[in-house]
Amino acid sequence: MLRKWMNMLGVAMAAVIAAFTFVVPMQVQAEEVWVHTHTYRWDIEVEPTDSTDGEMVYRCSTCGEVKYRLPISAYGKFMVDTEKAVEKTAGGSTVVIDAVPDRMKRDNEGWMSLHRSVYDLISARPDVTAVIDYRYKGDDYEITIPGGSDFSDLYDGTDFIGFLKLGTKFAATAK
Ligand SMILES: [Zn+2]
Repeated sequence: MLRKWMNMLGVAMAAVIAAFTFVVPMQVQAEEVWVHTHTYRWDIEVEPTDSTDGEMVYRCSTCGEVKYRLPISAYGKFMVDTEKAVEKTAGGSTVVIDAVPDRMKRDNEGWMSLHRSVYDLISARPDVTAVIDYRYKGDDYEITIPGGSDFSDLYDGTDFIGFLKLGTKFAATAK
């Protein structure tokens, strides 16, 4: 009689184990297909430098899924840094705008223009001389711009002025 009960208990245990092995995978599967409303927000994944692009991602804060990726322009970073440099320069001194950041020096290239926003700041600082160092076809040049200069005659349909164009008004000298 005892043996019979032991056998039945064994069968019952086996059934319980079978039930568990059946239920557990079902739960895992349910978690994998867990449905929620994504809440995406833009986030800066890689900070740009003045010579390398960064990246921003549109990511769900709940599950981490990324829906979109956009580059953050190194040129934009160069512009932000340059604006700050012009604004922070003490009166009576010179701000040097280096358009050939270190990494780009190795690649033998550099930025070749600035946005109106920067030229406007230079125009607004008659007490600050601006020097732009740039590279063109492998050679280094420097343009010295007297503080408070007017750039309005150099725009030709865009909000940017290239350094070659700039050199037609303010002499560029080879370094
Ligand atoms: Zn999500």
